[in-house]
Amino acid sequence: MIIRHQAFEPCKKMLKGALHCHTTRSDGCGSPDKVIEYHYDHGYDFLAITDHNIYNYKNYSTNVPVTIIPGFEFGVDNGVGCEEFHTVCLGQEKENGNPYEQDQIICQQTKTQEEHQKFLDEFRRNNQLIFYCHPEWSGTPARSFENFVGYFAYEIYNSGSHIENDMDKDAIYWDELLGQGKKLFGVAVDDGHMMNQHCIGWVMVNAENNVKDILNSLESGKFYSSCGPEIYDFYLDGDSVTVECSNVSSIRLHCAKHPTRIVRSQGEDITRADFKIGGSYPYVRISVVDKAGKMAWTNPIFLN
Ligand SMILES: [Zn+2]
Ligand SMILES: [Zn+2]
Repeated sequence: MIIRHQAFEPCKKMLKGALHCHTTRSDGCGSPDKVIEYHYDHGYDFLAITDHNIYNYKNYSTNVPVTIIPGFEFGVDNGVGCEEFHTVCLGQEKENGNPYEQDQIICQQTKTQEEHQKFLDEFRRNNQLIFYCHPEWSGTPARSFENFVGYFAYEIYNSGSHIENDMDKDAIYWDELLGQGKKLFGVAVDDGHMMNQHCIGWVMVNAENNVKDILNSLESGKFYSSCGPEIYDFYLDGDSVTVECSNVSSIRLHCAKHPTRIVRSQGEDITRADFKIGGSYPYVRISVVDKAGKMAWTNPIFLN
């Protein structure tokens, strides 16, 4: 029996989206209209303007028909020597029961998991989808955020942290959490503050182009993440895993309880790999790397 990852079920068009970016509404460099237009020019179908501690619903550009996912980023600088806990909230449109107001300030320092969890509970009560931001930048290894409850995903790639701090190892924590049996999806984001940090990491979502359907697909994992390569299919057939993608240099299978399996190109780029997994694993997921070093990541197929 074939178990196909739901992101790759037939659809009209995969939607390209940005889930975490900043503008002059907080400490970003680009005005909201310019940031929105910049994403549209890079082929984005939707984005969330997630400025620090201030909620947004608005499309500030009258020029482009991009879908704006309501939301904001919650979290305050805790000072030198402290861990940070930052959370992006994404919500429905105002008329569909979202209780937050345009420009509402939601700001509170949280220095422990317990303090931060109280806000996560409130966001979930208010029907927000939440994901955990840049663990490596925040100085939070998996053991510092594994007890949080309510996240649908966490950041496996953050271009701002990568460009400014050479921190690009967020995905390492993912297998640690998945290996513990946690059902968390991975999102690639920009967290762009400078203009050159936008449009580097994104999600490709199997959804209709409206806020409700995009949020539903995100919550159920019907998406993959990318910094360049495209992934077209990912399925399990018995103990064989198959992946199809755009031209890449290597295709890798991750499953926690086994070293990474890799199919590498032998000169020519490859567009497909088949892995015999054997054994029993809690999940399988795929990453691919192209010759420029750009990656894409599927969400896991959970096996128990
Ligand atoms: Zn942050
Ligand atoms: Zn941010």
